Amino acid sequence: MIVMRAMRFHSCALAFLLFVLPAVAFPQDFTVTLLGTGNPRPTIKRFGPSILVQAGGQNLLFDCGRGATIRLAQIKVEHINGLFLTHLHSDHIVGIPDLWLTGWVMGRKDPLRIWGPMGTQEMMAHLEQAYAFDIHIRRDVDQHLPATGVEVLAKDIEQGVVYANGGVKVTAFLVEHGLVKPAFGYRIDYAGHSVVLSGDTSYSENLVRFARGTDVLVHEVIDPVAYAALATSDSAEERAHILAHHTTPEDAGKVFTKVAPKLAVYSHIVPPDAPTVVQQTRKTYSGPLEVGEDLMSIEIGDQVRVKRGDR
Ligand SMILES: [Zn+2]
Ligand SMILES: [Zn+2]
Repeated sequence: MIVMRAMRFHSCALAFLLFVLPAVAFPQDFTVTLLGTGNPRPTIKRFGPSILVQAGGQNLLFDCGRGATIRLAQIKVEHINGLFLTHLHSDHIVGIPDLWLTGWVMGRKDPLRIWGPMGTQEMMAHLEQAYAFDIHIRRDVDQHLPATGVEVLAKDIEQGVVYANGGVKVTAFLVEHGLVKPAFGYRIDYAGHSVVLSGDTSYSENLVRFARGTDVLVHEVIDPVAYAALATSDSAEERAHILAHHTTPEDAGKVFTKVAPKLAVYSHIVPPDAPTVVQQTRKTYSGPLEVGEDLMSIEIGDQVRVKRGDR
């Protein structure tokens, strides 16, 4: 919890506050949960990239990396209204078959809806082919699971509003991820508040533009020092290539300073243990900052509240 600190009130004062400020005293129906804050490197502490945004009673998933379905089960979320992909790098999509097929086996009756960059529809069509045996057996022969539950409604998107339902608006915007084009970040608006998710990007002015005025900015980061120490088998060229695809803490700090969110949060942290990432960010940003952890949740309302993942 970073913004709302425990405060001791005289009971009369507390009763007065609850009476006159109900909207402030209670959290809004807008929560972001970091399901996986890692990257391709397998580690038990940081699962693959995936973020759940809950707004207006809807569960929207952004990316579906390794273990996303397990993290959803840990927080007892069974139904997903839609999946939005930032780009098609494997660390962001490798959990899709699990979400899609296990969700069906566990009782989903509606199609899985997916929005993503060009190539998303084709990828999902190939996945349907890859799992054709299991789908046929469970749907037509053995369990007779509902056919609609394994259907996929996938859409290739471009920059702009891609989803608007029940007061929740999702806007995709282009970011800079080397030759991985298109790669998107997302802004989710609900009830006068918003969260922006960077996806994978190096420093992006377009992100700054779309993120202006947001409450919470969740951004990726690569720590060049810790990364160089870990990736000793990579050539200098390979390391430079990786660095060019991501955002250094100093550059992320510049983004945070320009956007000035109520809270900046790191997720998709490369490498998983980057001990000086905050220190490096402080060269260019002095505002509120959290290093994300798996199952950390952020409530967004008139105030922003962070809960660690030990719930
Ligand atoms: Zn990635
Ligand atoms: Zn990537």
